Amino acid sequence: MEKWMDIRSMTKEELEETLQGAGEKKFRAAQVYGWLHQKLVRTMEEMTNVPLSCKEALLKEHPLYGVTELERQVSAIDGTMKFLFGLHDGNTVESVLMRYKHGNSVCISSQAGCRMGCRFCASTLLGLERNLYPSEMLDQIYAIQRATGERVSHVVVMGTGEPFDNFEALCRMIEIVSGKEGLNIGQRNLTVSTCGLVPEIYRFADRNPQVTLAISLHASNDRVRRELMPVANKYSLEELMEAANYYVSHTGRRITFEYSLVKGVNDHKEQARELAELVRGMNCHINLIPVNPVKEREYEQSEQKHVAAFRRMLEKRHIQVTVRREMGRDISAACGQLRKGYKERSRNV
Ligand code: SAH
Repeated sequence: MEKWMDIRSMTKEELEETLQGAGEKKFRAAQVYGWLHQKLVRTMEEMTNVPLSCKEALLKEHPLYGVTELERQVSAIDGTMKFLFGLHDGNTVESVLMRYKHGNSVCISSQAGCRMGCRFCASTLLGLERNLYPSEMLDQIYAIQRATGERVSHVVVMGTGEPFDNFEALCRMIEIVSGKEGLNIGQRNLTVSTCGLVPEIYRFADRNPQVTLAISLHASNDRVRRELMPVANKYSLEELMEAANYYVSHTGRRITFEYSLVKGVNDHKEQARELAELVRGMNCHINLIPVNPVKEREYEQSEQKHVAAFRRMLEKRHIQVTVRREMGRDISAACGQLRKGYKERSRNV
């Protein structure tokens, strides 16, 4: 185990190891783990049945990290909530709670910032600050469940950051949040969204085969994809689709392709046709997202009639397609803008 590993990022076995190494009883690990991952306490003091010697033994070796709420926006339309959380080193991350009929879904960030450079995305404008620890991903979920008192039933890793650029921490977070001694959120209720890091798609398929994978496609050919997403210079669509096919055949899970519609760039009828061709015969679902304009970028949202036409073209070709319902329209600053605004404001004071 790494020396830096913080207490909330540790598995129960790792806690056991640490406590036993310090001469403490093994069963204390289960207590500590339960306080952290089921009762969702914020501090060691709240663990009332754990002796001080145990707490001190842990804290001597490892820090306890979590997140602190800095700002909250609530949609008057549908109750969607956007949170800005502070990390122990002054970095910030955004998370969103969406309330659906089927349960509460939390969208979490996997990195502070991002280095993927997608042209339409606000999260990448300031670059990557650092990877999040598993605890910091988990605590976004925990903090929201604590703040609302409502059970979180679904988690989507679609906030700031590229989850596959923080691969090991992501897998650890999944293990803990889906574990019986944690929140026990079924892997089928977890979605990870990637911009398309091909080697990690294979690794992920082998490690977490029940999780839903979403791939940000955003284009039907390499030329347009390279214009929008620098990662497309590294991996061709052919390689990406091969990896996607591996995920589907290896896991038996339907894959989601995200396609943000940008006016005049990727919303032509011919592109819908090309897209249908690209995914033909695959167990997949396409999620069309009218692009959320970011003020630093010139891209505009496709007109509604073009979105509808694009959708019809796909439906006609028997491709499963939905247009993402916009949640929290009144607070729908594009992803990453709450964090960016906060950083800019705090720099100016
Ligand atoms: N890095 C991961 C996950 C984070 S982004 C990924 O790329 O998939 C989550 C989704 O929102 C991605 O599909 C991303 O391309 C999309 N997105 C980012 N900025 C957007 C914007 N301004 N409008 C619409 N979709 C956007």
